Amino acid sequence: MASLQPVRGTHDLLPDDNRRHRHVVERARAVAEQYGYHEIATPIFEFSDVFRRTLGETSDIVTKEMYTFVDRGGDELTLRPEYTAGIARAFISGGLRQLLPLKFFASGPMFRYERPQKGRLRQFHQIDVEVLGVAEPGADVEVIAMAAHILEVFGVLGRCKLELNSLGDPESRVAYRDVLVRHFEQHRDGLSEDSRIRLERNPLRILDSKDEGDRRIVAGAPLLSDHLTPAAAAFFAAVQSGLGSLGIEFEINNRLVRGLDYYTHTAFEFTTTALGAQGAVIAGGRYDGLIEAMGGPPTPGIGWAGGIERLALLCTAFPAQRRPIALVPVGAAAEVEAARIGQRLRRAGLVVDIAFTGNLSRRLKRANKVNAAYAVIVGDDELSRRAATVRDLDTGAQRTVGFDQIEAAIAVSGVSRGGP
Ligand code: ATP
Ligand code: MG
Repeated sequence: MASLQPVRGTHDLLPDDNRRHRHVVERARAVAEQYGYHEIATPIFEFSDVFRRTLGETSDIVTKEMYTFVDRGGDELTLRPEYTAGIARAFISGGLRQLLPLKFFASGPMFRYERPQKGRLRQFHQIDVEVLGVAEPGADVEVIAMAAHILEVFGVLGRCKLELNSLGDPESRVAYRDVLVRHFEQHRDGLSEDSRIRLERNPLRILDSKDEGDRRIVAGAPLLSDHLTPAAAAFFAAVQSGLGSLGIEFEINNRLVRGLDYYTHTAFEFTTTALGAQGAVIAGGRYDGLIEAMGGPPTPGIGWAGGIERLALLCTAFPAQRRPIALVPVGAAAEVEAARIGQRLRRAGLVVDIAFTGNLSRRLKRANKVNAAYAVIVGDDELSRRAATVRDLDTGAQRTVGFDQIEAAIAVSGVSRGGP
């Protein structure tokens, strides 16, 4: 029945996937905390205007990808396609200005109506980092360094490339826009239909076009880097030397743009060739004009977002799961006793699995299936002696001990307790 399929572009995170997913979030969060960032969570939906105004009416996300609906009260809402807008909105509506500078970490589901393929979903998940209230290039260096650090922790930094560009300040952009429009006007006939519309509304976005014909015309286009004001050029130089002094390698990509007016200065992307067509892993940039454009106090900002699914695909080493102890009661009376033993072992920090049905051999099979390290077999005959058999499921060695010795019998072999 079609309606019982997951919605196209969504997926279930079954326990194995979920564990990987959680690993990515937990490790990233731990690194972010080491940089002094604090976790924030904002609602999954916002008034549609929050995204329209921040992402720009002409952006792909706003024109094609938003999940927008009218709720029962008649409000037009959108499932968030990215985190920055919601965080900027929270900053304004929460009156957080006194607390600047602010450094945030966040993670959660995002929604975009895209053509689903490997690494491209309609509900996907991001980790996200934002710094508000810092206009200095040091913040750009810090967020990029943190992204590299997280990739390093996952063992994938070596398979990623950092691409860097400057979008300049608004002054640089105005000057550049003119020469860019002149160039594209000369090649108007060769441009895709989409790009001819972009030419009227937001010519910078043409630089980002994936259309073959557009790309040829883009290849000959003038470069923004040749039109940076001295101040913007100095800012870009400071970011580069900051990265250099931390030993972070990067390549300048003059074509890397965020087509929105509120984005300024630094734009960057960590890309990989290891994921096929979906090469972008972490992408971010500076958005000094955004909060003001939303109606808040002028507040500089910079941040990035990384795709958790793509990170999980790249990542190969995940921590081993803790192995449980399988409790195997034989008989009704033993069942009751086993439940009690289970409660005690769990309070001692062990992972305990009880199957509830099946005879001894079926329960031992299940113990293997859940990768139990030990089976604690509580038989009717042992019950009167208040004893159980502790079997090491790797070696088969076993011994019978009193109920109060079970923990000790397991502890000597060092089955992990507590912790991840
Ligand atoms: P792309 O060029 O792949 O469409 P994007 O520029 O739209 O990416 P951003 O909006 O910058 O992506 O989002 C940051 C990160 O989120 C991307 O680098 C990617 O890892 C991830 N991401 C974006 N869209 C999707 C999606 N539909 N499915 C899975 N991950 C995604
Ligand atoms: Mg996209």
